[in-house]
This record gives sequence, C-alpha cells and structure tokens, in this order.
Amino acid sequence: MTESPEFLAEGGCTCRAVRYRLTRTPLIVHCCHCRWCQRETGSAFALNALLESQEVVLLAGRPELVPTPSASGKGQIIARCPVCRVAVWSHYGGLGDLVSFVRVGTLDEPDRLRPDVHIYTESKQPWVVLPAGARAFDQYYKSGEVWSAASLQRRQALLNKNLASTSTRS
Ligand SMILES: [Zn+2]
Ligand SMILES: [Zn+2]
Repeated sequence: MTESPEFLAEGGCTCRAVRYRLTRTPLIVHCCHCRWCQRETGSAFALNALLESQEVVLLAGRPELVPTPSASGKGQIIARCPVCRVAVWSHYGGLGDLVSFVRVGTLDEPDRLRPDVHIYTESKQPWVVLPAGARAFDQYYKSGEVWSAASLQRRQALLNKNLASTSTRS
C-alpha cells in the first residue's frame, strides 16, 4: 500500500457484467487466513482491500447482495455478480455498508496491492510462509495499533458520518 492518494484501479467479475473502479488508496489490505475465508474462496486465504464504499464506484452492473454467515455470528453481506456469481466485495464489521472489503483478486492488476497485515494466522495453511517482517496476528487486531494515521482519520470520518445518519434516522 505504497501508492499515492490518487490511487485508481479497476476490476470486476469474470463475465464482466460487474465492473468497478477504486478511487482512493485502500485503508488497509488484509490477508485473512481464517477457516471461513478458506471455505468461501476454496483457497488458503482471502485478500481484501478495505475502502470507504463511496470510493468503490460501479461502472457496470449491479452486484447482488447475499447475506452470508460469518465467524463472528453477526453475518456479512457478499456482493456478487448476478450473472457469474463471482464475489467482488463484502461488507462486515461495525462499519457495515460504509466500508467495502474488495476482493483484490478481482482487480485487473491485482499485483498492485499486497497485504499490509495477515490475520487469523492461527489457521494459516502450514505451507504458506509469510515474508520476513510481515505483520501478523493469530486472530484480529486493534485498528488503532495497525492502521496508518491517515487511515485512522478516514475511519473516524466514517464513524462520525455513521453516527450522524443513525441520529437522523431515529
Ligand atoms: Zn459476472
Ligand atoms: Zn477470514
């Protein structure tokens, strides 16, 4: 995540019915080694770039939002192409649909984003060897200890916005 703030990238599903553009540097990029991500990807881990949902601009198609169980029990929403069903991002955690966890493998140039942090390494496949010095956590971590100052500011802006919309709704 050494890109400039003008980071721009496009991606989409396999059949190209869904296309999107990222318009900002990700808040952080997670490599998640949890069993749930292993099952959902059919692979060893999931690579997710977290961005404000407003920075994920749809260029074509309209992802279908599929409620899916999650490890926390709170569930997640996986956005899938309605035609080929490839997952392009999901929403979960306290920030809900304000943050999108974009599947890095769906970018046209996925090599541009590498993990900032490895999580749930307690269930990492034994043959996956992390680079020396990689930040890694057995389970999850505290954002305040891992995210950059700029990303924490962006997170706070989202939280304020969420509070504002909750109070106008009630
Ligand atoms: Zn598709
Ligand atoms: Zn996971």
